Amino acid sequence: MQGSDEPGIDRRDLLRMLAGVAAANALGVATWGALEALLPKGNADSWTKAVCRFCGTGCGVQVGMRDGKVTDVRGDELAHNAGVICVKGSMLRALPYVKGRLTTPMIRRGGKGSPLTAATWDEAMGLVASQFQAAIAASGPDSVAFYGSGQLFTEESYTANKLFKAGIRTNNVDGNPRLCMASAATGYTQTFGKDEPPGSYEDIDHADCLFVIGANPFHCHPPLHERMMRRKRLHPETTIICVDPRRTDTADHADIHLAPIPGTDLLLLNSMAQVICADGLVDVPFVERHVRFTDGSAPLDFAAFKAFLDASYVPEQVSQELGVPALDIRRVAHRFATAKATMSLWTMGLNQRTQGTALNAMVSSLHLLTGQFGRPGATPFSVTGQPNACGGVRDTGALSHALPNGRVVANPKHRQEMEELWGVPPGTISPKPGLPAVDLFQAMGDGKVRAALIMCTNPAQSLPNSAVQCANMGKAFLAVAEIFGDSETAQLADVLLPAALWIEKEGVTGQGERRYQYTPRLLRPPGECRSDLAILVELADRLGLGKLISARTPEAVWDEWRQISAHSKYNFAGITYPRLKALRGLQWPCPTPDHPGTPRRFVEGSDPLVAPGTGIEFYGFPDGKAVIATRPYVRSPELPSAEFPLQLTTGRVVEQWHTGTMTMRIPELRDGAGPAHIEISPSDADRAHVAEGARLRVISRFGSIEGLAHITDRCRPGTLFASFYDVKLLINRVVADHVDPVSKEPEYKVTAVRLELAQA
Ligand code: SF4
Repeated sequence: MQGSDEPGIDRRDLLRMLAGVAAANALGVATWGALEALLPKGNADSWTKAVCRFCGTGCGVQVGMRDGKVTDVRGDELAHNAGVICVKGSMLRALPYVKGRLTTPMIRRGGKGSPLTAATWDEAMGLVASQFQAAIAASGPDSVAFYGSGQLFTEESYTANKLFKAGIRTNNVDGNPRLCMASAATGYTQTFGKDEPPGSYEDIDHADCLFVIGANPFHCHPPLHERMMRRKRLHPETTIICVDPRRTDTADHADIHLAPIPGTDLLLLNSMAQVICADGLVDVPFVERHVRFTDGSAPLDFAAFKAFLDASYVPEQVSQELGVPALDIRRVAHRFATAKATMSLWTMGLNQRTQGTALNAMVSSLHLLTGQFGRPGATPFSVTGQPNACGGVRDTGALSHALPNGRVVANPKHRQEMEELWGVPPGTISPKPGLPAVDLFQAMGDGKVRAALIMCTNPAQSLPNSAVQCANMGKAFLAVAEIFGDSETAQLADVLLPAALWIEKEGVTGQGERRYQYTPRLLRPPGECRSDLAILVELADRLGLGKLISARTPEAVWDEWRQISAHSKYNFAGITYPRLKALRGLQWPCPTPDHPGTPRRFVEGSDPLVAPGTGIEFYGFPDGKAVIATRPYVRSPELPSAEFPLQLTTGRVVEQWHTGTMTMRIPELRDGAGPAHIEISPSDADRAHVAEGARLRVISRFGSIEGLAHITDRCRPGTLFASFYDVKLLINRVVADHVDPVSKEPEYKVTAVRLELAQA
């Protein structure tokens, strides 16, 4: 935004002329970016590179400042996003100045039910430490927990993980990436032996088939959508395939849109594999050299794998249950296999599923079967949701089953390695995996987890079956580090700790293509706000664990962490703070200070961990081969029934970030999105006598919620859609909390529901 003393047009004027953010978005990010270029750039004395606070695209931005205040934020033309940002990024300049910041610690002096009142840091942290100590003394280390976020800096998640697992000695460390990325991690690990995408965003520039499944980049990752559109403009022969039950804006821009019935798309992926195997589309030399097959417990040969597919997944067999014509399955399978380079992009539509691991692994398996791997443009690519779910949580192992750099709690060798690296006695790390998110909050209700520290996330709004989980949270002692005092989670807190935000602290985030990027501290936090790292260090001191948490500045923590990574296949010892400050991020592996980073993993010449002369080496497994497993389709417990004849699916909109805690306070974004609605197809609306704007009650096996109807042919008949950013439509109260048995990620995308007209 222009400074108040500047004449001429500013961003708010521009949005007004366009009739709002929604209209700006309808133009597409490229056009929006071109219009933004009209805005004067003389409204800042200095420009500093940083990273957008919001999504996992991890866009580089330039922060313009004058007189110590942020006056503008622009896309960074030298970053991977080439200056392209979405409307959320372009409104970042307002973020540090939104009203309602929590600026002082608050505690409930009279216990649960009493009001939160201002306190000193000493009082607040003293109370947190004493509650933790009391719970541990009475019920052991597993009676306390940490629940973190893919929005903390890496240094913060790493420190929390070390403090709880090697200090307090509980593995009850989980976070919101369990809700969004856990199935991507397990899918990659089961296929390649290591987590994180093998490819990069730049593969979009080389693909001539873009297979987008369970993702809506037009709204959720706009610069990536724009990059796909650019590829299509420059190379019109590029085929964009979109698989989504809704006719999204992404689907509108695709050449082929398949709209499966929610919960059935493993039928599609298995059926595509069947066509590929039956129609001679397998890259036999690639498969013979780089792949082994399994049924999950015993090795298979290719013939047995093909027989598994032939038995149940011929397109004509699955078409009706899937809701996609057999001819379309065949057409898409052939295009996927025969393109010069196919890139798959997916996100929550495949992750947030009871078969999320299988779906993730099966997309990668299609690439392995067809040899669509390792060349520019040929890669499976799981797009990530949060700005630091990959770098901060998946890489640091800040999840209840995990340890840093792909190690797991259940493996004695992995525990021993981390005990040596952390300098703690053998046997310190508990062999018992901690509780994943849904179980962790349930355990608060059961009295098994008695005290928890929650940082940088709003589980009271974001968890599935959230009304039940809020009741559970109400039974434990909750310390919540927050930027606002009125979020759904803050209202349940016993202690609120005011946290610094975005450029009020420095740190590193790892976005979706294994790229670590640095965000500088450019502002003083308001009031008494502290960084989450400072809060963790103080908790360590008060628990008598200060010696373990000896790295106390972001750079010192990063240096410890990158040295630890050198003892793994995630080696990024060469990514130092000075390099991060100078460069627009670096992609790991990056073992030495002169290494340029790795755009294509497992590929000789790009990945320094691949031995010369190997070509492609899947070094995550001892034999260097990737794994294709049989992935039988299992019907979702949330398929339609007589009692619940419709299906609810949920997602994001471009103007809003997750639970709207930040973006609903920025007027342009709040007004651009408007209130969340329950979207319903015209035929379902007719059948239920629902008029536009009618008040509806949505009822599932888990709860009910009321909201206003929006009738749209974007919804597949039989399917409702709602977004979760609006506290006036807490849609997660009705969302199913079944989880994937491997990843423990919940099934947000498919909940069986029925509708009633509610009283206005
Ligand atoms: S919200 Fe995501 S897509 Fe938008 S500017 Fe920020 S990082 Fe980029």
